[in-house]
Amino acid sequence: MEEKEVLNFIEQIIEEDIHNKKNDGRVHTRFPPEPNGYLHVGHAKSICLNFALAAKYGGKTNLRFDDTNPSTEETEYVESIKKDIQWLGYQWDGEVLYASDYFGQLYEYAIQLIKAGKAYVDDSTPEAIAEMKGTPTTPGTISPYAARSIEENLDLFEQMKTGEFEDGSKVLRARIDMASSNMHMRDPILYRIKKVPHHRTGSTWNIYPMYDMAHGYSDSIEGITHSVCTLEFEVHRPLYNWLIEQVEVFHPQQIEFARGNVSYMITSKRKLLKLVKDNYVSGWDDPRMPTISGMRRRGIPAEALRNFWIGIGVARRENLIDISHLEFHVREVLNRTAIRVMGVLNPVKLVITNYPDDKTETLEIINNPEDKDAGSRKVPFSKTLYIEREDFKKEPQNKKYFRLAPGKNVRLKGAYIIHCEDFIVNEDGIVSEIHCTYYPDSRSGSDTSGVKAKGTLHWVSIPHAVKAEARIYDRLFTVPEPINHEEGKDFLDFYNENSLKILPNIYVEPSLKDISKDTHLQFMRKGYFILDEDSTFDNLIFNQTTTLRDTWGKISKR
Ligand code: ATP
Ligand code: MG
Repeated sequence: MEEKEVLNFIEQIIEEDIHNKKNDGRVHTRFPPEPNGYLHVGHAKSICLNFALAAKYGGKTNLRFDDTNPSTEETEYVESIKKDIQWLGYQWDGEVLYASDYFGQLYEYAIQLIKAGKAYVDDSTPEAIAEMKGTPTTPGTISPYAARSIEENLDLFEQMKTGEFEDGSKVLRARIDMASSNMHMRDPILYRIKKVPHHRTGSTWNIYPMYDMAHGYSDSIEGITHSVCTLEFEVHRPLYNWLIEQVEVFHPQQIEFARGNVSYMITSKRKLLKLVKDNYVSGWDDPRMPTISGMRRRGIPAEALRNFWIGIGVARRENLIDISHLEFHVREVLNRTAIRVMGVLNPVKLVITNYPDDKTETLEIINNPEDKDAGSRKVPFSKTLYIEREDFKKEPQNKKYFRLAPGKNVRLKGAYIIHCEDFIVNEDGIVSEIHCTYYPDSRSGSDTSGVKAKGTLHWVSIPHAVKAEARIYDRLFTVPEPINHEEGKDFLDFYNENSLKILPNIYVEPSLKDISKDTHLQFMRKGYFILDEDSTFDNLIFNQTTTLRDTWGKISKR
């Protein structure tokens, strides 16, 4: 029996539309970012949804910048957004589109609205307009300017366009219903005067359309069939439909879904900007940031982000997704794809006393046991090694201790079994050197020694080791929902001061000098890492993407 696929509510709508031959069965979605910040994890949800829907039904997805507010928008943001979408693995249909390309057409629609008596120029102050709006429980009042003649409105609107009036002195409003139970229908503002140069249209325009004016008409102009957006726009839908119905144009359907919220991450561009501007982080792409660029720099694979959002699906109800779901997908992808290498984060010196002084052996170590095609690489081995300080104990307390201690055996990964003879401590009582002997016939792959070792340690040969820096990240906030966590507190009160720990002196195997910046690595037993953007050949910097296992439960109990 064939298993029946469970459709989400948007797919149900689309399949019904296709069945009814609505829009000739076309599916055309769009992703409409405002270029006023970098994309974040929530935008990734919207991107995955829009592109995956179109792909599933053989449709197309536009990228349209909603660039109607000249004062907050910058080209830097446009470029970062394009890069992020492509990195996520999606390609928009044709050219990049801009709402600003439609300013001329939108102006024409505004003229049509005025001519139909559906819009008027209002000279009221912003305060007076707010006052006239009324409240959700009391009707608004009709503006004294609402009765202006069509001719006067056409004339004034033309003068607004040519720059005759000061910013904020007049607006164009729709004439709908000041008593509507929907506040957005109470003669909403369609155009405002703003004598600010626009990042694309320069100083051509002195008036700019408001979001509601621009959005639906842009969808219409592009022939978007399913305009998918977040739930807060549900109350805008009657206005979206009203505006389209006043002029004879193609009518897209707006469909709302719940925003994606992830614990310990914030998805407000304004708040993310604050973190950047006030130097809580090094930039929009700081690896702790919930931005797409931050996650990329951290080493989160695009595939993991897609699997995460597609796995979660869409709903109509807001909820908070635990970050561990994202981490699960990150580890799942990295376990399959990351190259296993050796790096010692907290080094202590180990000397193999019976190994020849100037001998170097080249060991062949496989890159990824999960991926046969990943091949192997050469790792040098010698008499002096770094191992992890935590892997040695002067006196182990319990029987289950399988790492190194006087009298104990361990295997060095891909190399020999060693036996710990003794150790040296410095004047502060800290172990400065560990002395071991090795079993020459215990080499991995050709072990005939019969010697047993329960634990395996990673190591780096000191004469060949490359010194590097590691950056270890923790959550950016100390509570899962820093916004609204506590009355009277700001999200910045929950900034985690310990979210970045720099280890300036780690040692890694020499093969890492030649690794590319997009290669995901697993430092054996230590976590997943990737080279940082600022890393150079002579100054390697590794970002920890995540630990190998979910250690968060343990950490929070400490
Ligand atoms: P912010 O609140 O961060 O400023 P925004 O919604 O104003 O976000 P836009 O650039 O307008 O940012 O968003 C582009 C698209 O991404 C919109 O369709 C928006 O609904 C969607 N989007 C934004 N945040 C989320 C989220 N958390 N989950 C899902 N979709 C989102
Ligand atoms: Mg927005």
